[in-house]
Amino acid sequence: MEMEWRRFCGDRWREMGARERRQLEQSSGLADTLRVCGRFLRLKEMAIFAQLSAQYSTRKDPAVELEFKQRGNAQFKLKDYAHAVALYSKGLHHSSTHSSQAALLYANRSAALYQLQRYQECLVDIERAQGHNYPHELLHKILARRTACLQRLGQADGASDLCSKEHLNARGRGRARIQSQPTTGGAPHGQTKTSGTLCEISPSIAVRSDSSRGRHLVATEELRPGEVLLQEKAFAAVLIPEGARREPFSNEDMYCHHCLEWTELPVPCLTCSFSSYCSELCRENAWNQYHWLECRLGGFLLALGTFTQLALRTVLLAGIQEIQGTEKLESGADQRSIGECSVRHNPDHKVELSSCFSGMSEVGNGMPRDAQSRYQMIHSLLTHTRLQTPEHRFICGLTAAAVCQEIRRMGLESQLVSDKLEQPAIIAQGQGLRTLGVALLRHHLQLVCNAQAITAVRVTGGGHSHVAEMEEVRIATAFYCTVSLLNHSCEPNTSITFHNTTIIVRASQYIAAGQEVLHCYGPHWSRMAVRERQQALRSQYFFHCQCTACVREEGKVGMDSLLGQFLCSYCGVELQDSKEAHCTCLNSSCRLIVSKQALFQQVKKVRDQIGFARHLSTQHPDKALRLLSECQQLACTLVSGQHPLQGEIEDCLAQTHASRGDWLVAARHMRKSKELVQIQYGAQSVELGKELFKLAQILFNGHVVDEALSVTEQAENLLLLHCGAEHEMVIELRAMKSCLQTLPSQFARSPKLYRRE
Ligand SMILES: [Zn+2]
Ligand SMILES: [Zn+2]
Ligand SMILES: [Zn+2]
Ligand SMILES: [Zn+2]
Repeated sequence: MEMEWRRFCGDRWREMGARERRQLEQSSGLADTLRVCGRFLRLKEMAIFAQLSAQYSTRKDPAVELEFKQRGNAQFKLKDYAHAVALYSKGLHHSSTHSSQAALLYANRSAALYQLQRYQECLVDIERAQGHNYPHELLHKILARRTACLQRLGQADGASDLCSKEHLNARGRGRARIQSQPTTGGAPHGQTKTSGTLCEISPSIAVRSDSSRGRHLVATEELRPGEVLLQEKAFAAVLIPEGARREPFSNEDMYCHHCLEWTELPVPCLTCSFSSYCSELCRENAWNQYHWLECRLGGFLLALGTFTQLALRTVLLAGIQEIQGTEKLESGADQRSIGECSVRHNPDHKVELSSCFSGMSEVGNGMPRDAQSRYQMIHSLLTHTRLQTPEHRFICGLTAAAVCQEIRRMGLESQLVSDKLEQPAIIAQGQGLRTLGVALLRHHLQLVCNAQAITAVRVTGGGHSHVAEMEEVRIATAFYCTVSLLNHSCEPNTSITFHNTTIIVRASQYIAAGQEVLHCYGPHWSRMAVRERQQALRSQYFFHCQCTACVREEGKVGMDSLLGQFLCSYCGVELQDSKEAHCTCLNSSCRLIVSKQALFQQVKKVRDQIGFARHLSTQHPDKALRLLSECQQLACTLVSGQHPLQGEIEDCLAQTHASRGDWLVAARHMRKSKELVQIQYGAQSVELGKELFKLAQILFNGHVVDEALSVTEQAENLLLLHCGAEHEMVIELRAMKSCLQTLPSQFARSPKLYRRE
């Protein structure tokens, strides 16, 4: 989405004359950079802005409202009620307040909800329809529905059949999810409650500081796997739009734009067609804190991308007065941090993130306590101004200047500086925008190293297949204060999960007292070869990684010691890897030389084919199976039996057989896939947990009770450790386990008998 603006800035940078470039390169400090960049905002740039803003327009549009209503009605006729609900919701984004069109959409949605037997929500929508000038002559329709709902709700206190085969599938595709059930009983660890507090830190960890690692977190006593070390609410978080504006199943339609709560029946912003919330309360809070401005910037802001939005939201949440106060407090800190950076501009010098804090006042054990010191902590993250490319600095500077100019053009500056709307502005005209611009530039530069992706669990996998795959998808990007203290390791000793905007950091293994608590910034040893990792870390985070995995692997030749071996296509013996662009057959009488490029291309070809088969697996399983058997033949001549590619094929075979109801065959393939995942990621990995989760579902559906029970337990233990007791997969596994335990044992050992039931 933001690519176009970036591309435009990049072109602008390349067109720039030598003199102009020198001016930029010589600018000292953020304020100076901003001033120089501001000079590049001329008519041409403003015209581009107008164009982009129009492209991302967030105005409510009655034509779009009508279009979604009609599409919703069409799905309703086809009895795809879930899809109809989503389309009506999408239409409501474009409804103007209290219009009778909105009332009709609510009424239609209530009808779809009724069909889905979601009576409680149906009642809410009926009420909303009534509150939105619902046409009097149609009133009897919704009143009849209301009565029917109340009757159904009265009857519905019967027992729910947990053991139905539809149980796992009831949640639909990537849509529904289990209501978070309070988990009772003695869970040994991993129990978390995300309370309202901003940050909770285990008393067993503390902040330390030394010259090589900077500020970092260490264990003060032994930590057990699964133990929660840190829970922190994001200082600011911004949803990443998927941009599929005509389709109802994208991030921006599924999560509250304020608290990131998963929400199927969102409450839209009263003014724009973009933002929507889980509740009226979130809508109100968002409006008061930042959306009053963001809403008016609308498409303009969307065109500039999520980092700009996050930088602006950070400023608005902190408030201009707070920022100016912090700047006074740290006057000179800006200069100092630039000085520090230039000492470290040699990319081989290790610069860890936590050493990026400067001039921060310590509170208690070094952790921030209240909102004010939290902003100070964000403020003091290093910008790495001198390590980032001049082009990137230019883009950030130009973007910040553009936002300021737009706010001035719209006459919103005075509202910006009066922190609380009722207070008179005590900041001189012009000063507020300057503070805003510098802060935007600062935060934008900081985000390169400090943005934390927030993920959510989404159910994927074949629509009618009984094997739900739960995938972590990136839904937002955020600023965290304390989490920024964690240093990177390609082999971290923690796992992270999210609950809305709260990040939860757990120990993933025993951590001895005195050991550093480490987190992975992305490049993980099990997914990337050492050279790739180091390259990625150096270019994004400006340091040379010397973690245990890097030290262990650095001496080894080979592109991917962990990714299994390639085979000689001529004689079938393993190929020996080298640092060159080719591999040589190990067989002394063959010695075939193969280019790595060609090998990678073949792997890609097989992967593409697996992807295609996955796509076909539910609707056309026979076709999928044919494709997969071709894949297998190809893979056998290309890679050794332990290569992950073989596992990917087995996994897809399992899913395809499962979609035909061939549970026992599916289980055979899934077991193989599980073994390969274990080899690749290790016996304690979260990846193995996810694979066991899939195997458990297949065994459950195939009524292979004893094995299902033991696999369920293994999966539960692993996932509990990495993700905690409230994770969707853990909840699902517990439901399966309790169901399996209630099965009478004679059925348990005789699947056929059970099936006849
Ligand atoms: Zn919310
Ligand atoms: Zn809005
Ligand atoms: Zn490393
Ligand atoms: Zn050979």
